[in-house]
Amino acid sequence: MPPPSSRSPKSAARRHAPACFCAAALLAPAALPACNCGTEDLATRPETALSASVPSASIAPAPSSATPEKPAAPAISRVVLVTVDALRGDQPWTNYPAASTPNLSALAKSGVVYERAWSLANTTGPSLGALLASRYPTEMGRDDCPLAGLDVTNGLAQTLSERGVWTGAAHGHPYFGGGGAPRVGFESWRTIPQVLGRRAVDGAVTGEDVATLAIEMFSSAPSDRPAFLWAHFVDPHDKYVLQPGFPASGNGGRSIYDSEVAYTDFHIGRLLRAIEASPFAASTAILVTADHGEAFGEHGTWRHGMNMYDEETRVPLLWRAPGHKPATISTPRSLIDVAPTIADMLGIQAPSSWRGKSLLKDPASPQPEERPVIVDAPGLMSSPPRRAVVMGSFKVIVSDGQTRAFDLAADPKERKPLARDAASDPIARATKLLEQIPAVPSRRCPRQAYRVAP
Ligand SMILES: [Zn+2]
Repeated sequence: MPPPSSRSPKSAARRHAPACFCAAALLAPAALPACNCGTEDLATRPETALSASVPSASIAPAPSSATPEKPAAPAISRVVLVTVDALRGDQPWTNYPAASTPNLSALAKSGVVYERAWSLANTTGPSLGALLASRYPTEMGRDDCPLAGLDVTNGLAQTLSERGVWTGAAHGHPYFGGGGAPRVGFESWRTIPQVLGRRAVDGAVTGEDVATLAIEMFSSAPSDRPAFLWAHFVDPHDKYVLQPGFPASGNGGRSIYDSEVAYTDFHIGRLLRAIEASPFAASTAILVTADHGEAFGEHGTWRHGMNMYDEETRVPLLWRAPGHKPATISTPRSLIDVAPTIADMLGIQAPSSWRGKSLLKDPASPQPEERPVIVDAPGLMSSPPRRAVVMGSFKVIVSDGQTRAFDLAADPKERKPLARDAASDPIARATKLLEQIPAVPSRRCPRQAYRVAP
């Protein structure tokens, strides 16, 4: 169910808009053939090219080259990226009624909300490494450790840092305290105390400390430079802990998970209020998403890293930025667009190696560009490779020796794979798209991706 139509009268029309897909968009720019699917491609990037010559962005508004009758959008001096581990796509702001998320729901109401967004993989390392690199995990240098270490060279943090942006990260997941963490380009990379001693998968409660660390980093970031801060919250990750003051929802196996989501929302709210109380309140953009979803038996599995169905791969995506009005968008989107969006917010040109595109034009666009969404879980020593492609209402899943197609409009719970005749076209298109992603062999895991103290 979409949010109230009063916020987005165009949503219903967008939901079933005819799709146009461009397999060529997956090719490297130099290899792009003629493409009739949309007006932009990776080679031109008109949305990010304007301020590429600003070597070290300033918090003061840049000299505007806009026409006099069209004032420039307010300058964005800071961007805060909040990711939440295992936060499913169905949340109160997308009409899941059971959980309590007053802070994120308020942010969603005042920002741009995507009703249909998918992560880049279904486990933490590949998903977040690919998000930072704006590339697909299979084509990235990486190891095959259970949590995977991905090479994020030339990714978001390095690109911003080279243009003068302060880059910081606040973490509470043990993975980010280890050697496989995607630290490249971060000027300040901090973890909560004893991060390696906290078992993210064993009932650790870290949200309060992550928020406190993120607030401290936001407050102490240099005031004379633009800044990018990434905070990753972990608590909805299993094992689920009933958080005092945040009642279980009573919704079956999800009941205590919902308590953790509410707890995490509370501490994200502390971070949001610190931003609002800072001198940068009017010039800070915020983007919220997740590394993957969480299964509660919908297809016979629990937690994540087990399948490509929406419960594991569909995630929240919302952002609020000065100069951009609230909107609700039903066009499918991938987190591959997160890094280009953040670079665009700060007026920095995205490298040509990035696959994604900025989302900043979406809310003002009568018909946001349709693009295929690819979920690309690489093979790890703990799991086989699995992939999914979303094309309009169709979703093709390649997993465990089977390739199946679903019509999400008619079958949103992915219960009934399409029959052979109906499935042949979406499967052919998905296969062609996946063939455009070069497969880079992974290195054998030389060690534990991280070590957890007893
Ligand atoms: Zn995760």
